[in-house]
Amino acid sequence: MNEPRLLVISAPSGCGKGTVLGAVFKDIDVFYSVSCTTRPPRPGEINGTHYHFLAIEDFDRMVEEDGFLEHAGFVDKQYGTPAAPVLENFAAGKDVILEIETNGAFQVREKRPDAALIFILPPSVAELRRRLYKRGTETPEEIEKRVSRAADEIAKSYDYDYVFMNDDLDDAIRDFKTIYNAVKNGDDSADRFRTYKEETINMINEVLKNA
Ligand code: 5GP
Repeated sequence: MNEPRLLVISAPSGCGKGTVLGAVFKDIDVFYSVSCTTRPPRPGEINGTHYHFLAIEDFDRMVEEDGFLEHAGFVDKQYGTPAAPVLENFAAGKDVILEIETNGAFQVREKRPDAALIFILPPSVAELRRRLYKRGTETPEEIEKRVSRAADEIAKSYDYDYVFMNDDLDDAIRDFKTIYNAVKNGDDSADRFRTYKEETINMINEVLKNA
């Protein structure tokens, strides 16, 4: 059996990350970490499934008790990965997936240098803004904060292990599967997505140029 791997996925909000991951991991036995957050649920979001929605005092208590593997602020709200379920599943031999923003991702790398950090790029920041307005789950003010935060996050993707773009959904699913298999097998079959490759750097530069 392969060693279990810790995969950290980051993507600006509105990037279609959930759709890509849902499609890739439908048939694979991985543990998806459910995060804690102080933001309110969106319509359709279920407590305990999409997030553990916590009051600020409860979130702060978990921080004090060292209950998070990592935690970070994002657009005025707090987000964190509960440590216990991640460590238990990892110890039981399961791959663990964290969908978290960039500051949290680098905290995880500090604690677990073997974690694979994967970043999903939007085709452009303008497209991201369009998707967020279309989704309509945030106020225009919040959307603009998320868009400006997105540019900061994209600039940090140079320090991830792998970067690919969600331009076309089928392509993104294929690319992500390629990366997942390479991480699992410890081989170089996804090296074209590595951030030391010139074409990967050019792709990030291109998205940032118009941000
Ligand atoms: P949203 O409010 O759109 O669900 O998430 C906002 C951002 O917070 C996204 O970039 C998402 O990946 C990130 N996020 C979700 N859960 C966590 C977490 O546990 N830790 C950190 N650091 N970021 C998280």
